[in-house]
Amino acid sequence: MSYFVVNEKCNGCLSCVENCPATALRFEDTGNGRSLLHNMAQCARCGQCWRICPQGAIEFQHLMQNQWDHVITLDLVRCKVCGEPIYTSDFNETLQEALNESLDALCPKHRKNKAGAPWPRLAPGKSIHGDKAQ
Ligand code: SF4
Ligand code: SF4
Repeated sequence: MSYFVVNEKCNGCLSCVENCPATALRFEDTGNGRSLLHNMAQCARCGQCWRICPQGAIEFQHLMQNQWDHVITLDLVRCKVCGEPIYTSDFNETLQEALNESLDALCPKHRKNKAGAPWPRLAPGKSIHGDKAQ
């Protein structure tokens, strides 16, 4: 999703591109088409493009929204005793592969209560991100 929204009132005058102090806007003319491009990493959110646009085509409010965007949802593994979330099932798989053993779904508290069952340790040279560089 783009935070920089230009609506259909845009007439392609390029005032926004020419007046952006952060060179966060540029354009491309291809065949009979003109495209506006915006770079969020360079944008200072200064509002200059919005102020200068003669068409009122830049919907700057999207850049200023104070909101949390949904990124991803993953399945959780919960402690089989108390239901406390421990990690995601994908992380569990990664961990089991790295440890080469299956893990009981227990939170640190209930794992501690289970006699003789401390958190397993990775073999030397192993990491949950794969083998460590030697
Ligand atoms: S808000 Fe400012 S920095 Fe961002 S594109 Fe518009 S003029 Fe450029
Ligand atoms: S200044 Fe406004 S009308 Fe001109 S190109 Fe930019 S968005 Fe379109």
